[in-house]
Amino acid sequence: MRQCRAQHACSALNWVQPNTDWEGHLAAGQSCRRAYFRNMTSQETLQIVWFKRDLRVEDHAALSAAAKQGPVLPLYVAEPELWQLPDQSARQWAFVVECLRELRQDLAALGQSLVVRTGDAVETLERGRQRFGQVQIWSHEETGNAWTYARDRRVGAWARAHGIVWHELRQNGVIRRIQSRNGWAKKWDAFMAEPAMDMPSALPRLDAVDIGEIPTEKDLGLRADDCPGRQRGGRSAGLDHLHSFLHVRGAPYRKAMSGPVSGAEHCSRLSPFLAWGALSMREVAQATWARQRALKADGVKGGWRGSMSSFQGRLHWRDHFTQKLEDEPAIETRNLHRAYDGLRSQHPDADLLHAWSVGETGVPFVDACMRCLRATGWMNFRMRAMLMAVSSYHLWLDWRAPGEHLARQFTDYEPGIHWPQVQMQSGTTGINTVRIYNPVKQGHDQDPDGAFVRRWLPELAGIPDAFIHEPWTWEEAGRVLGKSYPMPVIDHLDAAKAARQKVWAVRKSKGFRTGATAIQNKHGSRKSGIPNRGQRKAAKPNAQQFQLPLGDSQK
Ligand SMILES: Cc1cc2nc3c(=O)[nH]c(=O)nc-3n(C[C@H](O)[C@H](O)[C@H](O)COP(=O)(O)OP(=O)(O)OC[C@H]3O[C@@H](n4cnc5c(N)ncnc54)[C@H](O)[C@@H]3O)c2cc1C
Repeated sequence: MRQCRAQHACSALNWVQPNTDWEGHLAAGQSCRRAYFRNMTSQETLQIVWFKRDLRVEDHAALSAAAKQGPVLPLYVAEPELWQLPDQSARQWAFVVECLRELRQDLAALGQSLVVRTGDAVETLERGRQRFGQVQIWSHEETGNAWTYARDRRVGAWARAHGIVWHELRQNGVIRRIQSRNGWAKKWDAFMAEPAMDMPSALPRLDAVDIGEIPTEKDLGLRADDCPGRQRGGRSAGLDHLHSFLHVRGAPYRKAMSGPVSGAEHCSRLSPFLAWGALSMREVAQATWARQRALKADGVKGGWRGSMSSFQGRLHWRDHFTQKLEDEPAIETRNLHRAYDGLRSQHPDADLLHAWSVGETGVPFVDACMRCLRATGWMNFRMRAMLMAVSSYHLWLDWRAPGEHLARQFTDYEPGIHWPQVQMQSGTTGINTVRIYNPVKQGHDQDPDGAFVRRWLPELAGIPDAFIHEPWTWEEAGRVLGKSYPMPVIDHLDAAKAARQKVWAVRKSKGFRTGATAIQNKHGSRKSGIPNRGQRKAAKPNAQQFQLPLGDSQK
């Protein structure tokens, strides 16, 4: 590539299309910028729309507002440092790539294709500033992990240092710098009821800007990650899921959501599309409300109506949980209730962690869920909660490493839901029902004939139905256990009992309740609240399932 006659070597700066005769446009001393935009005057400011977890053109506040200001450069920065973090994985990137390809097509249809750069966001934006002179940045607010939070702070500092305006706009029910959770649910409803952002009718084409290649997983340093059952990404797939859920698959949702097989069919499966922003929360909420109105108008009772009502509640939960991480980013890294500090070792038993991660704990339903998750990138809520609870209570592992493992396995990894849920299912929030799932009971409840277990643990094919969830109780267990399938790594009933005692000891400790009340005030759902002492009795522990209620319960 040839050198720009002006100050910079454009090839090195990587903003200009190779083999484009753009030098011819430049007179000596003229800014490179003039050559890129035939339709742009030198006074115009370039609007850089920085796409992050909002990979769509519809209902896109940043794109909509930027396009009203002037010519738009739609930009996605693939950040290798981000993608090499322990909560990121190639299955997530594969989904993102499919979304990016469709986004690129949609933007090209409007007039200006998506520009993709690989590297550090600040360096990329700085190169843009040097090339284009006057720029403004537009993006959506992001409630991400600690790394993206720190990166956004760096971008903010860079923008301030150069006098560049960075507009960060809201795209969901999460409210930045919120003072109190009072009235939050009403504000959520109001935001979702607002009309969708209008899509620009056209974007002026920026001449001679290299749109760049979408990097491969290898380019980003990601490890190979075989996930044959992964959901396909892209907005059209998201719209198909939304439609089929609201009109076909969703009827039995309320009951079917609990099982790993029925849930895979009858849950919406919208999570990765929402996580990467191929669909907006508002369009999903509004489509759900429209469906609810139509069902009511048609006089439909029960079934569909109940399922849509449950689903609508989950959409609230999504932002309710994300608001917690927005308000307290440390939820990703330390116990929400500090009374739990030191309870579990921060250096988890490597053998137990490995057995759990690869689905070899010897507890069939747990292992089948983990192997299904590894192969498909998705699991229903109840089974995610059980996997986390088994790790935290039965195996007594600190939640951080298992949380990272699950994050990598989820195509829909969303830090704002994930870390608060990880802590909630590990009992470290101090305000939630402590739910120690009994994995054998869950197996009997959710997989009564053992078909799911046999599907994912073929080595158990010969175990009779009556013993499939507790093969160690079968008199001929020795034919399989310790050979093709492990002996259980724990006695699950003893382990649950011991965990319960340790958790109770913390909860009874001095100052625990004061801390829990402060957490409830800051993060708790206003519908629940912590019961006063004696107001609500703790659930009687039994061997089937242990539950200790506190506020902010999740049904
Ligand atoms: C330990 C743990 C980690 C989790 N990590 C994630 C994650 O990284 N990303 C993620 O999207 N979900 C996460 N969840 C929540 C939930 O399990 C998934 O959202 C759900 O299973 C996705 O499937 P779906 O889209 O078919 O859900 P549906 O049941 O159809 O629900 C629709 C949408 O509502 C939201 N939602 C549903 N359940 C919950 C919930 N319990 N809390 C918050 N929002 C909810 C999601 O956006 C979901 O896509 C986690 C749950 C647990 C227990």
